[in-house]
Amino acid sequence: MQRLINTAIDNSFGLRVDAQEAWHIAFDSDLPEVIQTLKDRCSNWLVVGDASNLILPSQLPLAVLQDTRKTITWEDDQLVAASGCAWDHLVAAAVEAGYFGLENLSGIPGRVGAAPIQNIGAYGAQLSDTLHSVRVFNTQSMVYEELPANALRLGYRDSLFKSKEGAHYIVVEVNLHLSSVFTPNLSYPGLNVLLAQGRSAPDLTALSVREHVLRLRGEKLPDPRIRGNVGSFFKNPMLDSMQREKCLSRDVTVYRTEYGFKASAAQMIQRSGLKGHRSGGAKVSSQHALVIENLGDATYEEVVHLKNEIQHRVSDIFSVWLEPEPQIFPQ
Ligand SMILES: Cc1cc2nc3c(=O)[nH]c(=O)nc-3n(C[C@H](O)[C@H](O)[C@H](O)COP(=O)(O)OP(=O)(O)OC[C@H]3O[C@@H](n4cnc5c(N)ncnc54)[C@H](O)[C@@H]3O)c2cc1C
Repeated sequence: MQRLINTAIDNSFGLRVDAQEAWHIAFDSDLPEVIQTLKDRCSNWLVVGDASNLILPSQLPLAVLQDTRKTITWEDDQLVAASGCAWDHLVAAAVEAGYFGLENLSGIPGRVGAAPIQNIGAYGAQLSDTLHSVRVFNTQSMVYEELPANALRLGYRDSLFKSKEGAHYIVVEVNLHLSSVFTPNLSYPGLNVLLAQGRSAPDLTALSVREHVLRLRGEKLPDPRIRGNVGSFFKNPMLDSMQREKCLSRDVTVYRTEYGFKASAAQMIQRSGLKGHRSGGAKVSSQHALVIENLGDATYEEVVHLKNEIQHRVSDIFSVWLEPEPQIFPQ
C-alpha cells in the first residue's frame, strides 16, 4: 500500500491536476482499511483508473484511489479481471486465448474497473453483451459484494454506478462470460467493409476484427498522446418528435433504437458551426466534432467554458441539451 501526498494525476486530456493525496492499493484487500481511514478523517475520495474519461480541476481536493492489481484469471469461459488491469490488455488476452465477444471493444483506453461505470461500447458491441457480474466494495456497509449484471441497470453509456444509489460502490473485479465459438458481430456499418473486401464470414477471425477495429479507431479519433482528449465528449441524445423534426430539417442523421429516436451529436455540433471552434487551448476537433482536444495548454476552466458554449448553441438550434459523456468534476 502506497500513499502519495500532493501528487500529480496523469489524465488523457493532458490537464495539469494535483490531488490532495493518492493511494495506490490492492482493491481486493486494502479498501476496508483505507476507506475507514478516510471516513475517520472526513476526507472524500475519487476512484480513478487511467483518467481517460475525467475532466478534473488543477487542485483536486480529494483522495484518489487506484488499484495496483492487473490479474486476469480464467475458469473455462468465465474470465475474472482485476479493476486495475488495462482494458485493451484484457481484450488482447481473450482473443489470443480463443475466447470471443470482446474483439469489437478493442482499443478502448482505460482500466477494467471503469468499464461497467459507463458500460463501455463501440463498433456495435458493449460491455453488457458479455458481463456476468462484478465484485464491488460497498463503502456504506464496508463489505465486499457480488452484483449480477442484471442488477447494474446497464444502458447506453450508463449504469447504476453513475446514479446516487450506486455511487457508494467501488468496482474490484469484473467477471465476463465469453464464448469459445467465434461469431463475428459486423452490425456496425464500418465493419461490413471486412466482408466487402472479399472475406466471407466463416473466413474472419477475431484477430482480424480486432485489427480492423484498431485501424478504424486510429483513423477516426485523435491520439490522446498527441492531442489530449477523452474520446466522445457528448452522448448521442434521445429525441422527441419536435427535436426530431429540427434535426431532420438540418440534415442531422436520426436513427431508431429500441428506446426511441436518437441523433448524431457530432453532426449537431457540426451543423451548429462549432467544428474547429476554440476556447483558449481547448478546441472542437477538426477531425471529429464529438471530440474536444487539448491544443497543449488547455485549462479546466477553458474546457468547461467550451462545453457550456456547445450545449447552449446546440440547444438554441435543436432544442436539445447535450449530456457530457466524461465525468466533469465536481458536476
Ligand atoms: C481516445 C479515447 C477513445 C475512447 N473511446 C471510447 C469508446 O469507444 N467507448 C467508450 O465507451 N469509451 C471510450 N472512451 C472513454 C474511456 O476510455 C472509457 O470510459 C474508460 O472505461 C475509462 O477508463 P479509465 O480507467 O480511464 O476511467 P477513469 O476516467 O479513471 O474513470 C471514469 C469514471 O469511472 C469511475 N471509476 C473508475 N474506476 C472505478 C472503479 N474501480 N470503481 C468505481 N468507479 C470507478 C471514476 O470515478 C470515473 O467516474 C475513450 C476515451 C479516449 C481518451
